Amino acid sequence: MLGSVLYVAAHPDDENTRLITYFSKDKLYRTGYLSLTRGDGGQNLIGNEQGIELGLIRTQELLSARRMDGGEQFFTRAYDFGFSKNPGETFTKWDREKILSDVVWVIRKFQPDVIITRFPVTGEGGHGHHTASAILANEAFTAAADPNRFPEQFQYGVKPWQAKRILWNTFNFGATNTINDDQFKFDVGGYNPLLGKSYGEIAAESRSQHKSQGFGVPASRGVAMEYFKTTGGDAPVNDIMDGVGLDWKKVPGGEKISKLIDGIVASFDLLHPEKSVSGLVKLYHAISSLPEGYWKTQKLKETQQLIEQCSGLFLDATASTQFAVQTDSIRVNFSFNNRLGANAIIKKITVNGFDSVLNQPLDKNKNVNFIKTFLVPQTKEVTQPYWLENKMEQGYFNVSNQLKIGQPDVDAAYTVDITLNIEGQDFSFAKPVRYRFTDPVRGEVYQPLPVLPAVIFGDIASFYLKNNPDGVIDASVIANCAAATLVNETSDNSASKDTLSLPFKYNLKKGNTVHFPYTIANLENKTYRLRSADEFKTGKILKTIHYDHIPAITYFKEAVTTIKELELKTYGKKVGYIVGAGDKIPEALEQMGYEVTILGNKELSRNNIQQFDAIIAGVRAYNTDEWLNNHYDALMKYVNDGGNLIVQYNTSTQIGPIRAKIGPYSFDITRTRVTDENAIVKILKPDHPVLNFPNKITSDDFKGWVQERSIYHAANWDKNFETIFSMNDPGENPDEGSLIISKYGKGYFTYTGLVFYRELPAGVPGAYRLLANLIALNKKKAF
Ligand SMILES: [Zn+2]
Repeated sequence: MLGSVLYVAAHPDDENTRLITYFSKDKLYRTGYLSLTRGDGGQNLIGNEQGIELGLIRTQELLSARRMDGGEQFFTRAYDFGFSKNPGETFTKWDREKILSDVVWVIRKFQPDVIITRFPVTGEGGHGHHTASAILANEAFTAAADPNRFPEQFQYGVKPWQAKRILWNTFNFGATNTINDDQFKFDVGGYNPLLGKSYGEIAAESRSQHKSQGFGVPASRGVAMEYFKTTGGDAPVNDIMDGVGLDWKKVPGGEKISKLIDGIVASFDLLHPEKSVSGLVKLYHAISSLPEGYWKTQKLKETQQLIEQCSGLFLDATASTQFAVQTDSIRVNFSFNNRLGANAIIKKITVNGFDSVLNQPLDKNKNVNFIKTFLVPQTKEVTQPYWLENKMEQGYFNVSNQLKIGQPDVDAAYTVDITLNIEGQDFSFAKPVRYRFTDPVRGEVYQPLPVLPAVIFGDIASFYLKNNPDGVIDASVIANCAAATLVNETSDNSASKDTLSLPFKYNLKKGNTVHFPYTIANLENKTYRLRSADEFKTGKILKTIHYDHIPAITYFKEAVTTIKELELKTYGKKVGYIVGAGDKIPEALEQMGYEVTILGNKELSRNNIQQFDAIIAGVRAYNTDEWLNNHYDALMKYVNDGGNLIVQYNTSTQIGPIRAKIGPYSFDITRTRVTDENAIVKILKPDHPVLNFPNKITSDDFKGWVQERSIYHAANWDKNFETIFSMNDPGENPDEGSLIISKYGKGYFTYTGLVFYRELPAGVPGAYRLLANLIALNKKKAF
């Protein structure tokens, strides 16, 4: 099968996994999904990661999905900066020409016969990114074929490429139905007896990988029609591939290849695939002799993979340590097994520029194990996702290496090349060196093996508020390497005023951490860099993200922090925090000078909650914590007795149904949101205490907000609620549901969709001041 299809949309989870599964597993097309963004701007259902960290998680979820449905994954440099209501708004942040160039680049490399967009250019896709993805795909359909567009790409080995056609895969999303029976359509709901699964079953497994989005879906069986509208090229009549050559006839000299394949297929023995190996090696020879070209390269790769699989070869290279550390060494365990006894000799292995000549026959089902130890030199690059190497712009990542564009993931730090002679032909198998361990619960686990510097810094916040008189920066340095003795006798000579130099005189052993607390009150309001005094570069902080459904994620951030002094007054000291889906508000509250107590089910039962000046529910707490129902009466009593309960946004969807009662009076939660972070905020009740104590809130406090203003607004609120603000996106009706407050007994209850969880970590002063006022509402303590 020599055909290919590229699906294009904007986010992880936009793609039609059932269609991708059908193309890849039934039609055997080379099938790709180009997601313009990594989904950085969404809400995270499983943890507190936001922004680039959420993008890292959703990148891995998409790769996990592709491992199931058989598609390949690509991205552009576009950053998912959050919801936008139209493509015009989207293109003010994405560099339109840059992102178009990336789509063109992926098309020129992948050379799809057919391009399919999830969304139309006309806006029925809703989200501005969706419409923008269709606009760019349709522009790229023409531009990729035009030698005058993006000619700078040609030096990197691509050529102009004209896909046969581009179609929009119309949809019925309930509220919006763009399907029409006149449209070109076909059934993708078949059953694959070789795999023992329906395409709707495989697609559900694939889609359910989007766990951070809560997109678990049921498997489907039976007829499933997909509908299409042609937006470029000639419309298909009988088949989506009409007019596309799909066999070897399209490759000069390719006809003899078809005959060879027919022979191998005809004699294939399901129980003895190894009997096909010599035929496959002959096929490999024959394809090798064809003139250079896209399908030659692709089919050589696929044939080699078939040879490996039909031989039952096991080729494995693992490290028993989690990281490779600069200036330290790693032990790599090689393990090979020729499980079906193909005629194979292992000739040599090459890793890290080091050749090991072996020339050893591989006997049937006999383990060949050996260990090599390598030095990880100081010059070995630390492992950083390539799109995070440079400082990013608001709407896109800066990637300097053209060859990386489109690539979904970071390259393995170490790859071993194994040269095997199989049936007289040399093959080179490239395998990543991975970290392998056995978890008592999960069993054998493989993880990537990233490279670390010999010295890293403990995590610090990107900024600290000088407002907390007791604030301390807990700077620390961690030794990863036994050989690295960190001794510095002259601690001050490299310290500039803007450097928090760590004046250590310690002989650090591997695993040692030394703490250097800095009192924030003693620092100036400026940006400081952490570096150990014998290193003139800014230090690195290692960040790791672990979830069981995806490989471990590591990346580095610069050890830089800024001291800020906000015009911020607080009133009250003790805050109880009920964690919901996860957010970084508790850290922010501590920076403001509050004492924060995390309140779970147990703590709410045991704790004397009257002690708290305010209790704040984290984002989606009432979606995630069913046990909050047990505490409804106690929380209402707390409010009635003079407490102050502040509930941040919850959703009211099938993903996040409300599981517990929330307030003393009724209100509904809607999907109304204000996504323009500069939307004008009209103050409705200038005399309300929330706008006056202890901070005077004015329109200035709504300057410099990031991503959006507010989500999941309240509606249909009881007459006891007061509204404070009115705001709306351009062209929409004013809405007052972003912040509703009611007095109840001696205390206060607040529901708010204002995105404090985005604004506080971004250091937006107005958000801090407003939250301080919400916490002060009950003025519980006497003056
Ligand atoms: Zn989307």
